[in-house]
Amino acid sequence: MDYENADIDSVLADLKSSKEGLSEEEAAKRLLEYGFNELEEKTKVTPLKVLIRQFANFIVWVLLAAAIMSLTIDEIVNFWVIIGTIAFVILLGFVQEFKAEKAMEALKKMVQPVTHVLRNGVVTEVPTKNVVVGDVLVLETGDKIAADALVFELHGLKVDESAITGESMSIEKISGDMIFSGTQIVHGKCRAVVTAVGMQSRLGMIAGMIQESEVKTPLQQKIAELSKSLAVIALVASGLTFMLGYFTGAPTEEMMIIALALAVAAVPEGLPLTMTITLAYGMHRMAEHNAIVRKMLGVETLGSTTVICTDKTGTLTKNEMTVQKIYAGNKYFDLTGIGYDPQGSLLKNEETVDLEKNPTLNMLLKAASLCNNSSMVQRQGKWDVVGDPTEVALIVAASKADVWKDDLDTEYEKLHEIMFTSERKLMTTIHSSVEGRIAFCKGAPEFILQKCISIENDDGVRDLGEDDVERILSENLELASSAYRVLGISYRKLPEGLPVEESESELTFLGLVAMIDPERKEAKDAIALCNQAGIRVVMITGDNEETAKAIGKKIGLSPDYDGSVEQMNGKLRHIIDDGAVTGSELLTLDDEEFDSVVEGISVYARVMPEQKLRIVQALQNRGHVVAMTGDGVNDAPALKKADIGISMGIKGTDVAKESSLMILQDDNFETIVEAVKRGRGIYENIEKFTTYLVSRNFTEVILIMLGITLLGFELIPLLALQILFINLFGEVMPSISLGLDPIRNEVMFETPRKRGERILKKRNLLLMVSIALTMGLVCFLVFMFSDPVGNIERARTMTFATILSMILFIPFVFRSLTVSALSVGIFSNKLMLVGVASTFLLTLTVMYVPYLANIFEIVALGPVEWVIPVSAAFTTLFIAEAIKKIVASSGI
Ligand code: ATP
Repeated sequence: MDYENADIDSVLADLKSSKEGLSEEEAAKRLLEYGFNELEEKTKVTPLKVLIRQFANFIVWVLLAAAIMSLTIDEIVNFWVIIGTIAFVILLGFVQEFKAEKAMEALKKMVQPVTHVLRNGVVTEVPTKNVVVGDVLVLETGDKIAADALVFELHGLKVDESAITGESMSIEKISGDMIFSGTQIVHGKCRAVVTAVGMQSRLGMIAGMIQESEVKTPLQQKIAELSKSLAVIALVASGLTFMLGYFTGAPTEEMMIIALALAVAAVPEGLPLTMTITLAYGMHRMAEHNAIVRKMLGVETLGSTTVICTDKTGTLTKNEMTVQKIYAGNKYFDLTGIGYDPQGSLLKNEETVDLEKNPTLNMLLKAASLCNNSSMVQRQGKWDVVGDPTEVALIVAASKADVWKDDLDTEYEKLHEIMFTSERKLMTTIHSSVEGRIAFCKGAPEFILQKCISIENDDGVRDLGEDDVERILSENLELASSAYRVLGISYRKLPEGLPVEESESELTFLGLVAMIDPERKEAKDAIALCNQAGIRVVMITGDNEETAKAIGKKIGLSPDYDGSVEQMNGKLRHIIDDGAVTGSELLTLDDEEFDSVVEGISVYARVMPEQKLRIVQALQNRGHVVAMTGDGVNDAPALKKADIGISMGIKGTDVAKESSLMILQDDNFETIVEAVKRGRGIYENIEKFTTYLVSRNFTEVILIMLGITLLGFELIPLLALQILFINLFGEVMPSISLGLDPIRNEVMFETPRKRGERILKKRNLLLMVSIALTMGLVCFLVFMFSDPVGNIERARTMTFATILSMILFIPFVFRSLTVSALSVGIFSNKLMLVGVASTFLLTLTVMYVPYLANIFEIVALGPVEWVIPVSAAFTTLFIAEAIKKIVASSGI
C-alpha cells in the first residue's frame, strides 16, 4: 500500500470517513505475510558469543600455559586434569553468564511497548511489534510512534524527530504529513495510517547506526580494574615463589607448574562473573517487585540515593478520585458513594437535589461531563471506566444526579479541544448545539478565575467582582486544606466566527468541584522507613499547595531543616517555616537563594514540569544523589538529569519511560523504597563476595610462600593439582551464594552510602588482609604439626582438608561484614548451604575414591584424623569473627 505516491487529498478524504481501521482478521493476515514490526537486533546475545567470551578469561590462558608446561615435563596426568579444569571453567562461566543474559532479556521483554490502533472500529492496545501496514494509529502526547505513518486527523500536533534527524526542535505537523517510527509526540494528538513497519521504516534503514549496547557500569568497571590489579599482584607473588624455589634448588619445570597453579589460585577470576550475576539477578528480583531497572547502572545508584522526589497523584495517593463536594450558585452540595460506581446521590442538607431548581449546578454538571474525554460503560452489571481519573470522577458525579455524558454527547457535538497541559492547568472543549457554539472549560481554580469575566448564579449571569474572586479563592483554600483536589468549571457562549484559540477567555464561572484522592496506606510506612534510612522524601506536584500539604501531613512528610535561619530574609524564612513552596514562589528565587533553602522544602506545589529540572539541580548542588519520578513529556529533562529517573509504568508516557533509568510498574511510592533497599542490599553483597574472594585467594599464596621460605621446595604444603581443586570448588559457589545473599532489613537502618565509595574501602581491606593471614597461618601450622618430614603426603592431605573445611565455615563469616554470622542466621542462605555441602562432598569423593586420591596425591584420612582440620577451621571461624568485631567496633 503506497500512500506516499497516491493522490493525497483523496486518500485523506477516504481515511477521514473510515472509522473502522483494519479488521483483526486482516491485521493477523498481514502480520503473517509481512512479519513483525521490529528492528533486527544486531547485538543479540547468542550462545556462541557467550562461549567465545569465556576465552577472554585470563585464567583460561594461565591454565593453558600450565597444561603445556606439564606436557613438556611428561606429567601426563597433570596435563589432563588441567585440561579438564579448563573445560570446567569455561562451562561454568558459560552457563552462568548465559543464564544472566537470559534473565536480562526476560527483563527487557517485561517492558514490551504497546501502541493504540483502531481495529474493527474500536481503539485497541496492541504490542507495538504487531502493528501492520494499513493500521490506523491513535496517538497522543508522550506516545512513541510505532511505525512510519500518514497523518489524517490531528489536534495541535508536534513531533520530536531528534531520534532520526538529530534535530532537537519539535516539528509541527499538518494533515497529510508523514510521521516516523521511533519519533515522539510532544504535543497534541492524531490519527495516522501506517505506511511502513520494521526494517522498511526510515528508522529501520538507519537502525544499524543507532543500536544501543549496554556499557559497563562504574561498579563493573571498578571490579574489572580490581581483578586486573589483583591478577598482577598474583603474578608477581607467583613469580616470587618461583624465584624462591629456584634459589633453594627446586627443579625448574615443577616449580614452574606450582607457580602457575598459584597464579591461578590467586587471580580472582570469579569476580567479574559473580558481579554480573549479582547485578542481573538483583535486577530480576527488583522486576518481580514491580521496579524495572532499565540499565544495570540503576541498581548501584539506587543504593546511594539520599533524596527521593516524588509525584503526588497516583504515587503517594491512589489516583482513585471521588467527587464529594460541589460549590455552585453560592451553595455547597454533597455527593455520597465511593469509587467509580454511579450508585450514590447528590444531596443538599441530606435531601436529594432537584436540578430543575438549581440551574447553575445543572450547567456545571453538564460542563464537567462534556469537557471530558473519559467514558463509563456497564458490562454484566459492573461499571468499566476509561480515562483520566480526575475526569472519570466528574462523569461519575454527574451520573449520580442522572446527568449522563453519552446523552449530552449527542446533544452537544464536540468540534474542537484545547488539550489539558500541566503548564496551563486548563482544558477546553468546543461544541455545537441548537443554541449555537459553546465552550466548556475546566481546570485549577486560580487559573480558571483568571480567564473569567462573569459568574452564573441561579438567578442569572453577572459580572465577576473582586469580592467574588476572593470568596471563591477562600472556599478553594478551605477545601484544599482538607486534602481535596479542586477544579473550577466554566463556560462561554461563543460569538459567530471567534477563532478556536480565543475561546478560552471571557468565561463565565460556574463553581468548584472537590474530589478526594485517598493516600496510599503503604506510603506512610515507606516514608517512615526513608526517614530512618537517612533518605529525604520530597513531594513535587502540579496540585494546589494546601492540598499537597494536607496529603503530606497525612503520610508523615516532614521538613527537617537543620541549617541556620539567622541570616535569612522574610521570604526565605517563610519558606523554611512552611516547608513548602509553590512554582510561582520558586520563580522569584535566584539560584543562590534556592540553594540555601532547598534542604528545608518537602512540598513543591503548582509546579511547572520544567521546574523539576531546577529542583534536581539544586539538590545535586548540595551533594545529593537524587531519585526523581515523572510521567509526562516535559518531565523527560528532569528524569535524565536526576541520578535515577523513575517513570510510571501505568500513567507514564513512552517519552518519560525512555528517559528513565527505572520504571515503576505499579506507580507506587513504596516500590521505589523497596528498590532502594534492594540497591543497598546488592551493593552490600558485592562488598561481601569481593572481600571473601580476595582473602580466600591469598590464603594459598601466603601458605605456599611460607612453606617454601621456611621449609624449602621439597616440603611445599600443597601440590599444583590440589591448589587447582581448592580454587575451583572453593571459589565460585561460595562467592555466588554471597552475591545472591538475601537482603537484610537492617540495610535500611543505616545512612546512605557515599557516592563513588570504593569497594575495598579501609574496613574491607583490613578484614581481607587479616582474615587471609589467619587462614594462611592456620593452614601452615596444621601442615607443620602434621609431620611433613615423616609423611609428606599425609601432611599435605591434612592441609588440603583444612582449607576445604575452612571453605565449609568461612563463607558464613562473610555474610555480614559487621555483625556475627550467628546473628545473620545460618540457614537463611540456602544456596550457600548447598554450595558448601557440595564442596565438602566433592572433597570426600576425591579423598576416598582411590583412583582420584592417586591423581591428587592425597591419602584417605580416618575419622579421628579429621578432628584436626575441622577444629582448625572452626578456630579460624572464631578468630575471623573476633577480627570482624574488633574492626566493627573500631569504627573504621
Ligand atoms: P502530580 O504532579 O502529583 O501528578 P497532579 O496530577 O495534581 O499532580 P497536574 O496533572 O499537573 O498535577 O494537575 C494540576 C492541576 O490541574 C490540578 O490540581 C487540577 O486542578 C488541574 N487538572 C488536573 N487534571 C485536569 C484535567 N483533566 N482537566 C482540567 N484540569 C485538570
